[in-house]
Amino acid sequence: MSTLDDFRSDTRAWLEANCPPSMRTPMPEDERVWGGRQPSFKHPDSRLWLERMAARGWTVPSWPREFGGGGLDADQTQILNGEMARLRCRSPLFSFGISMLGPVLLKYGTPAQKARHLPPIARGEIRWCQGYSEPGAGSDLAALATRAEDRGDHFLVNGQKIWTSYAHYADWIFCLVRTDTSVKQGGISFLLFDMTSGGVETRPITLISGASVFCETFFTDVRVPKENLVGRLNGGWEIAKELLQHERGMIAQIGRAIGGVVPDVDVIARQYLGDAQGRIADPILRDAVARHLMNDRAFALTVRRAGEESAAGVANGGVSSMFKYYGTEQNKRKFELILKLAGTRALGWEAPGFSADELTLCRSWLRSKGNSIEGGTSEIQLNVIAKRVLGLPD
Ligand SMILES: Cc1cc2nc3c(=O)[nH]c(=O)nc-3n(C[C@H](O)[C@H](O)[C@H](O)COP(=O)(O)OP(=O)(O)OC[C@H]3O[C@@H](n4cnc5c(N)ncnc54)[C@H](O)[C@@H]3O)c2cc1C
Repeated sequence: MSTLDDFRSDTRAWLEANCPPSMRTPMPEDERVWGGRQPSFKHPDSRLWLERMAARGWTVPSWPREFGGGGLDADQTQILNGEMARLRCRSPLFSFGISMLGPVLLKYGTPAQKARHLPPIARGEIRWCQGYSEPGAGSDLAALATRAEDRGDHFLVNGQKIWTSYAHYADWIFCLVRTDTSVKQGGISFLLFDMTSGGVETRPITLISGASVFCETFFTDVRVPKENLVGRLNGGWEIAKELLQHERGMIAQIGRAIGGVVPDVDVIARQYLGDAQGRIADPILRDAVARHLMNDRAFALTVRRAGEESAAGVANGGVSSMFKYYGTEQNKRKFELILKLAGTRALGWEAPGFSADELTLCRSWLRSKGNSIEGGTSEIQLNVIAKRVLGLPD
């Protein structure tokens, strides 16, 4: 047996022995574990599951062991993901530290920054938020105006961020700040700071779905030690762009994450339209469901192919934009289709007479609209693809 076959059977045995059965069920959004200084474990088994996975380094399987990772190579990581999907294991930890900050700290962080920040991210002890967007800087992110003035041994930060997801729950922020006003991209730096620092204030914004996941975030004379600068002074734009690639890859997968909450479209179709001799009863909607599932399958295969190409060193700079664009537009189409399939049963909000599953449909449909905005809009992804993949002029 090859080493990878051994790894697969060991992994399967370990997951079967250690993943509690309750952690192999679809995960309601409010049972996600985000970690942090004051973590919330709505499902009691989710703490045990996180602790077991973190002890093995499998919350961040591909990170080096010295930083709390599993030290797995690309093939082993893929096997682990495949085995977790096969057993329908829940993701033990959702974390912007894992999906966004960690990869850039591994590349740009000093040894001291890596040693300080990466292990708590891997164990889910510190929760991070992303301070990029500002009222005057969204798609044109490099127009950001939040200032960080050099005050000798520290920076003094003043300004405002907006749409800062989960800022009101976050322990630390990774933040883009202006350290030079004479140039645009070349005057941006990448800072880390504690959200309990004096002068940080968050004000939650309520979403159309009724949830309140993001905030306006204000900074007034926030003192940030110089050691919290990642990379060069005025060298933050390169790090910011690289982090966005990781973020876009993560958002492109959001459809699948939500898939854990909302049943697949064919299951919903059979539930609401009925089943005629093994086929979805309505021929027109059956066609729409089949088309959607084929596109899903093709997308999953393309993502896998790109992953294998990247592991083999064949990099394509535009791939995260392509996946972000397609994955989020496909996720929006999914929820449009679900609304057609479930009809008025998808319109329940809080009223009695709807099942718990039905009450998630309309909210998830509304939430999906944000997918093609967060992390850069679809139009911006198309601009990136035009420039970087197709080589078209500006
Ligand atoms: C659910 C959600 C979570 C978010 N979380 C965070 C977070 O945690 N941290 C954070 O920093 N930000 C966050 N954001 C903000 C997000 O990154 C911005 O909303 C996004 O970059 C778009 O910026 P904007 O809202 O200012 O829109 P604008 O930039 O004002 O764009 C408005 C419209 O104009 C179009 N447009 C703009 N420029 C161009 C162009 N050059 N070519 C073609 N069309 C163009 C856009 O596509 C869009 O349709 C979040 C957003 C959402 C929806």
